[in-house]
Amino acid sequence: MNDNEIFAIENKHSSGTYTKQPLVIVRGQGASLFTADGTEYLDCSSGHGVANLGHAHPKIAEALYKQASTLVTLFETFPNDQRAMLMEKITSLVDGLDRVFFCNSGTEAVEAALKFARLSTGRKNVIAAKRAFHGRTYGSLSATFNKKYREGFEPLVPGFSHVAYNNIEALDKAVTDETAAVILEVVQGEGGVYPANKEYIQEARRICDERGALFIVDEIQTGFGRTGKMFAIQHFGVTPDLLTCAKSLAGGVPMGAVLIGKKVQNLTPGVHGSTFGGNPLSCAAANTALTIMEDEDLPGQAEAKGNYLIEKLKKIESSNIREVRGLGLMIGIEIKQKVSPYIKILQEKKIIVLNAGMTVIRLLPPLVISYEQIDHLVDVLAEVLNMVVE
Ligand SMILES: *Cc1c(COP(=O)(O)O)cnc(C)c1O
Repeated sequence: MNDNEIFAIENKHSSGTYTKQPLVIVRGQGASLFTADGTEYLDCSSGHGVANLGHAHPKIAEALYKQASTLVTLFETFPNDQRAMLMEKITSLVDGLDRVFFCNSGTEAVEAALKFARLSTGRKNVIAAKRAFHGRTYGSLSATFNKKYREGFEPLVPGFSHVAYNNIEALDKAVTDETAAVILEVVQGEGGVYPANKEYIQEARRICDERGALFIVDEIQTGFGRTGKMFAIQHFGVTPDLLTCAKSLAGGVPMGAVLIGKKVQNLTPGVHGSTFGGNPLSCAAANTALTIMEDEDLPGQAEAKGNYLIEKLKKIESSNIREVRGLGLMIGIEIKQKVSPYIKILQEKKIIVLNAGMTVIRLLPPLVISYEQIDHLVDVLAEVLNMVVE
């Protein structure tokens, strides 16, 4: 099969819910992706923040092979060595979150957190933020703000409302004694790469405590070193009641998790579950991924490289750039025009980036990206953002 054939087959048989790029990728290595003929692309998307460890990490490959030849599947009713090890490890990452529910994706983690919050509090209402993205199944979609994701799927789940992000007053007004939970990203990803203010997150915690609501933090994109800490909430000196994670948790293998604090009650046998959740294969991958994150100090790398990259981006002289913002290696470049033509040109120049809305270029490179690759990225961005495009 040549690339044109592959592209045609996918376009013919795909559900149609994705715009297919005319670029067939067959292999990855570190922060690079390769086509069949060996053309190298710099990956500044990490599959939307999945490949924090870089592509094809040999230790993940080895762990998968080993566990696949040992035991792939086991329902959570039966304890397992890999799962127990992961439970200990992941609950040691944040003080006060001692229990964990395993699932298979981000949206499932959010669904679980929302269900747990309603069950625990006996209340119905959920407050989310404007611009928020929490996933595409019904509960998480109801917490997601942008109508582009919601339209055509109504009626969504009742009880959800959205308030301005980083606005303490709006949150204070919205949370009542009927609020089950407040759910927030600490850096909004899809919504345009907006980091939260420290005071906002601290006040959100206080308001939730005061009114008996649970505080859910969605770390699906910000988790596992991305922002310079293992979890972004660690920048804020706050512990949530429920923390959702997924994306890079298992080194690229599908897995999600909800970390659970002491205030969350009523989680008894049968109230929730998942066939694949906590399977030994994903757990083995996650154990290895978390070990790599610590051994290679990926949070430290993200902090140092993120600061370096943001500094360099801020020095680019282009009247097209409105703002550079971000935390660690989660960076948004807001420009004055639509980003799609620029993203296309960057791809022609062998750099893969993401958008976040219409006017923000989002950079989520693997945390193992080299300084040479960062310098190259900045050089190409400086050139491309100064182009006049239509
Ligand atoms: C990607 C993402 C999700 C959804 O994760 P899926 O695995 O695609 O379901 C939810 N919340 C945030 C913040 C995300 O970035």
